Amino acid sequence: MILVIKPQTTEAALEHMIQEIEHTGLHTHLSKGEEVTIVGLVGDKTKIDLTAIEANPIVEKIIPVTESYKLANKKFHPEPTTFAVKDTLIGPDTMTIMSGPCAVESEEQLLCIARAVKAQGATILRGGAYKPRTSPYSFQGLEEEGLRYMKAASQETGLATICEVTSAHAVESAYKYVDMLQIGARNMQNFELLKEVGKTGMPVLLKRGLSATIDEWLNAAEYIMSSGSSKVALCERGIRTYETATRNTLDLSAVCVLKERTHLPVIVDPSHATGVRAFVEPLSAAAIACGADGLMIEVHNDPAHALSDGPQSLDFDQFASVMEHLKPYIALSGRTLG
Ligand code: PEP
Ligand code: MN
Repeated sequence: MILVIKPQTTEAALEHMIQEIEHTGLHTHLSKGEEVTIVGLVGDKTKIDLTAIEANPIVEKIIPVTESYKLANKKFHPEPTTFAVKDTLIGPDTMTIMSGPCAVESEEQLLCIARAVKAQGATILRGGAYKPRTSPYSFQGLEEEGLRYMKAASQETGLATICEVTSAHAVESAYKYVDMLQIGARNMQNFELLKEVGKTGMPVLLKRGLSATIDEWLNAAEYIMSSGSSKVALCERGIRTYETATRNTLDLSAVCVLKERTHLPVIVDPSHATGVRAFVEPLSAAAIACGADGLMIEVHNDPAHALSDGPQSLDFDQFASVMEHLKPYIALSGRTLG
């Protein structure tokens, strides 16, 4: 439920009402926009005296929030959210490019990729140290050693870093080395893991589950937010459909739906969505047109010999060309890089 507060309400009156509500055990979420101030209520509403709230002279109206996600809900927070990851911003004014290899393979590999993606305007270096592979015999990642290379690459280039975490143990390690945590598609509904990443308070990129509905996805975001991190970005990375021509089917309509339902930033990952490097550029352009706040693009120094996801990875020249071609789309969206 949200309470729309009357204009010209004094801070003291607002604070007094919030304290009274919190006293009942409910949590409040204050959102002060330019036009309107609203107070979102989360928790067991049976504990509050609704008629008293209705009668409170500072309350203009009460709007029920029927969706089960509250903190992630646009009704709770009408303005789009912006948050910083190191020196880069994710939000409505920027186009944040997260690029790098699928997996961290060596310190030299990561460093040379970091330099190359930075030169083209990427501001966040991606790299997997814990790889959730379909086969247990495939390369599983360098784990903490990979995280150390991420830190070194960040120190040398100034790039922010993001790494997927697959367990509570990985969260504990990643906390020390990277700037943003990624929840992969396969873990989108691993609720214990969501709570662990939320508790760190760090920025989180929440990928959409392989067959998750938008509602399930937003509830997953709610798990992270209600555990302590308000800095959540959602990443559309393709969903399972009957189509086999691409690895997954990029659901660009999800970007539009999310923009209606949530204030959280939306990132599109055309690399995992298609599994085909030739489709990365056109779908990136389409994602920008749909209102995406950023792109996650896999880049490798030698895609033919990549330890994972080579076929969808761009080499340096291809990445440079994609970024060059995306410039007019980014300009048209009214955003600036990073
Ligand atoms: C990844 O980003 O490396 C990854 C494994 O992505 P997803 O979880 O979307 O499959
Ligand atoms: Mn990958």
